[in-house]
Amino acid sequence: MIANSQNNVFDVTILGGGLAGLTLAKQLLTRQPGLRVAVVEKRVFPVAETTHKVGESTVEIGAHYFGEQLGLKKHLTDDQLPKFGLRFFFKDAFQSLAEGTEVGGSSFFAAPSYQVDRGRLENFLAESDQELGATIFAGARVKEVFLDSSQNGTEDTAHRVTFLQDKQKHSIESRWIVDASGRAAFIKRKLNLEEDLGHDINAAWFRIDSNIQVDAWCDDPDWQKLTGKVPRRWLSTNHLMGEGYWVWLIPLATGSTSIGIVADPRIHPLNTFNSVEKSFAWLQEHEPECADAIEDQLDQVQDFLAIKKMSRGSRQVFSVDRWGLVGEAAAFLDPFYSPGSDFIAIGNTMVGKLIEEDLAGNSITHLAPTLQSVFLTLFQNNLLTYRDQYPLFGNPRIMAVKFVWDYAVYWGFPALLYFNEKLTDASFIQSLHKGVEEIRDMNLKMQTFFRKWYEADSSVNAVPAFVDQSNIEIMTRLNRELTERLDDAALRDRFRENVVLIRELMHEIVGRICIAEPELQAEFGPQADETTSEQRLTSVFEMLEV
Ligand SMILES: Cc1cc2nc3c(=O)[nH]c(=O)nc-3n(C[C@H](O)[C@H](O)[C@H](O)COP(=O)(O)OP(=O)(O)OC[C@H]3O[C@@H](n4cnc5c(N)ncnc54)[C@H](O)[C@@H]3O)c2cc1C
Repeated sequence: MIANSQNNVFDVTILGGGLAGLTLAKQLLTRQPGLRVAVVEKRVFPVAETTHKVGESTVEIGAHYFGEQLGLKKHLTDDQLPKFGLRFFFKDAFQSLAEGTEVGGSSFFAAPSYQVDRGRLENFLAESDQELGATIFAGARVKEVFLDSSQNGTEDTAHRVTFLQDKQKHSIESRWIVDASGRAAFIKRKLNLEEDLGHDINAAWFRIDSNIQVDAWCDDPDWQKLTGKVPRRWLSTNHLMGEGYWVWLIPLATGSTSIGIVADPRIHPLNTFNSVEKSFAWLQEHEPECADAIEDQLDQVQDFLAIKKMSRGSRQVFSVDRWGLVGEAAAFLDPFYSPGSDFIAIGNTMVGKLIEEDLAGNSITHLAPTLQSVFLTLFQNNLLTYRDQYPLFGNPRIMAVKFVWDYAVYWGFPALLYFNEKLTDASFIQSLHKGVEEIRDMNLKMQTFFRKWYEADSSVNAVPAFVDQSNIEIMTRLNRELTERLDDAALRDRFRENVVLIRELMHEIVGRICIAEPELQAEFGPQADETTSEQRLTSVFEMLEV
């Protein structure tokens, strides 16, 4: 630790007090009480509820980080909303929801997730951080960051940050700097680390002061009862799917609904939906039921924002020179499966480990590049899930199968290791490298396969069907297994079983589709030794007439 105890000297300075910065401060102070943590945030608290930021839907890793690792379960349960999974609707513009294909659960998965009002959560975190002893410089705009590059530092070396607060210039020093400044991304810009991900996606969103429930869009009692006795589809992150786009509907605990359009500009340019009026006209054309549901409430629109080319990468995220990038200041992929909070959880956990080791006097010379390599591998693997896949988004047959694949890879690999607190255990991860590489290669192959399947058969066939993910055993099992704590040997075995499971799933999907689309056989068809007798998706294939 830096010996100087003046109040402008800290162990860790966090640039930006948004979700990543505030959760990191809580994580550090919970694990190491007494650590001197500064957060420099340009806004003042409390921030506005409802309209503060997007990033409202959490999935399992992020939800576990917030609920269990940071001890926020009570806040999430009492002051936010439970999430009824991700749900997807496919249909032609003239069909009602019930006439199209729905993919989602009929019951809650075992590992919980939440819909979070970002303003409410950040206000809660800011208070809690201060109670734990963090110094929050609010209303403080970071101006410059001076990085100390003397390898590993000494007691006397420090990074320096200058900021303006109340028109006064301040300067603070710390052994560690973590950039959590979101898109401002000070360190990434300063060191020129930006990486083009080749994934060009735009979005526009608004909040409306009304609880929009998709459950009410169709009065067929049979359809309504498919997901339980009481209407609860509205608690899902609902995705209205179409070629080149998806529309989100996310309920907020304040009673408002967040609605966003996310699209590939090659199919739906941003200038066709970059204002409230244009978004509404766009919804009238592509998702008329949604437009009908909000038409009478357009005077209750609370905000509107649009963002171009939202995906951001970074060549480096951690340094032996005692800095790290977390949250959007590091990287952001695509909101389709809500992975933003997952990467905050993973990045924060990793940078926290580096800080802990370093402050304990241990070298991070090998640990920093190893954790970075794990982080970037997970990020790149996840990117494959979205890149060049938007044209498929209107096709329920391909997407319903892709969902099973994508979830199996997510729950069976990174989520399993994260829940068991092993993503920062370098030697454990290295012991799994063969399986990790195989999953990466299989995922690469399968994401290409889904695109080629679409090229071979792009006909949209939104048959009236409910693909109930609660009845897909591989999904319920992989999700449920996240809630079990395993020792190292059992975790290694479970991971190996999951690699086999994922391999069998690949062979089943490819084998089945190649029968219907023989032109895919030469490139993807299973070899004689690759066929599987396991039939996990038969009912899905039959229901969707694959
Ligand atoms: C369209 C869209 C939809 C999304 N949907 C989801 C979703 O459903 N689920 C999900 O998990 N993620 C989602 N995300 C991602 C999610 O929004 C981000 O992961 C998350 O907001 C990043 O948090 P952060 O703390 O890194 O950045 P931010 O929340 O942006 O925080 C950065 C902070 O830095 C502060 N700051 C900036 N400049 C300065 C300065 N000069 N001085 C001091 N402070 C400064 C800002 O005021 C801000 O508070 C979505 C993203 C987009 C673009």
